[in-house]
Amino acid sequence: MAPDLLLPTHSIVRPDKDRFLSEENPFEAMMSRFDRAAELLDLEPGIYKVLRKPEKQIITHSPVMMDNGDIEVFTGIRVLYNTSRGPAKGGIRFDLNVTLDEVTALAAWMTWKCAVVNIPFGGAKGGVICDPLKMSAAELERLTRRYTASIISTLGPDSDVPAPDVNTNERVMAWIMDTYSMRMGHTVTAVVTGKPVEMGGSLGRREATGRGCSIVTKGALAHLGMDVKGATVAVQGFGNVGSIGAQLLQREGCKIIAISDRTGGIHNKAGIDVDDAIAWIAKNKTLEGYPKGDKITNDELLTAECDVLLPAALENVITKKNAAKIRAKIICEGANGPTTPAADTILDEKGVFVVPDILANAGGVTVSYFEWVQDRGGYFWTEKVVNERLTEIMQHSFKAVLDLSKQHKVNMRTAAYMLSISRVATVHRLRGIYA
Ligand code: NAD
Repeated sequence: MAPDLLLPTHSIVRPDKDRFLSEENPFEAMMSRFDRAAELLDLEPGIYKVLRKPEKQIITHSPVMMDNGDIEVFTGIRVLYNTSRGPAKGGIRFDLNVTLDEVTALAAWMTWKCAVVNIPFGGAKGGVICDPLKMSAAELERLTRRYTASIISTLGPDSDVPAPDVNTNERVMAWIMDTYSMRMGHTVTAVVTGKPVEMGGSLGRREATGRGCSIVTKGALAHLGMDVKGATVAVQGFGNVGSIGAQLLQREGCKIIAISDRTGGIHNKAGIDVDDAIAWIAKNKTLEGYPKGDKITNDELLTAECDVLLPAALENVITKKNAAKIRAKIICEGANGPTTPAADTILDEKGVFVVPDILANAGGVTVSYFEWVQDRGGYFWTEKVVNERLTEIMQHSFKAVLDLSKQHKVNMRTAAYMLSISRVATVHRLRGIYA
């Protein structure tokens, strides 16, 4: 293997050697899983080389007029990791910690995620280094439009379709869609997903990731011969994914015994009323002060006695430091990258059944795909139809990964990577190399 294949893509934006060397480097974490799956698949060297590199990395520097009349220049990134199976799909985040390495890792993740649920998209990710909390709505709009203009050559329903991510939302998608449409001279709704329903968004998109988590959790419980009714669940992160996942699992009869957000957690052995906790957050913004349970820390929540742990907040929360203490029988990775590779090994030894992120949280991108299909067809589905189709895809994908894991005697994460990498590799073989 050529030595450069061992290296991550260059940290042009913010070189940080320690981060690269740590257990938690996102590109390394993703690539170590990729390498293991590629080895088991006996991937030929040529395709291995192709899949280990991003197709395209764009760096932009966008000048923006601030409200006080000053001009600021913001660095933006868009990475198209692989588009062999279809248009690139992946969110755009606004954050001070955006780096080229991280965006590239996330773009690769999107490639495997779309392939594991077999939707006809490649993978992409984008980001702008900025602090959106310190910017006015007008400044954010100008930044969004200028960044969109600077990556417009890659954007398009057939080529690259962004979505919301950290610190971006429906509003930002509406600005991207409008900017693109103005440049094209006509309205193009399918250029982004995660749009407001009023302008081409899909019903059921908001709940889709949590719904997907609940579907695969039920699959995992059934596989282990455990009853959904009465299964105890701890949920880290009570935002979009965590709260909806908890709500749907509670409706199926699970007992939610712990929830948390950035302010800390609540534990209640008798069960937490999820609708009541959601109503509390709607009123008070955070879980802080929620009275119906005992206070616990986020670390304590992760190692709480439960059947299912649903990490739905941050990456790298299950590491070699706490993996041995995890008591859950099932981990359903609602968040992206909550478990480090070192923790994977420990969880395997303990026999914890992990539904990996690229499968567990793929409900969101699946309904994004439905949104794109509806926009292109100009015909919109009922929420019932969206949910039924999502359920079918998640159940089918869970089974496909489980079957592969049994066949090759590997864990679910390796099986998910094997399935997705083999799908992308097959298309490369069929298409051949353009010269
Ligand atoms: P969100 O912003 O709606 O909620 C995040 C939750 O995590 C909040 O409750 C927040 O308080 C909590 N949190 C933040 N910092 C925390 C900390 N240090 N400790 C504990 N809790 C903390 O975000 P979301 O959309 O629910 O996304 C959650 C995770 O799921 C992210 O990793 C995201 O990348 C992933 N994900 C989301 C989607 C989606 O469709 N929303 C799709 C795929 C993956």
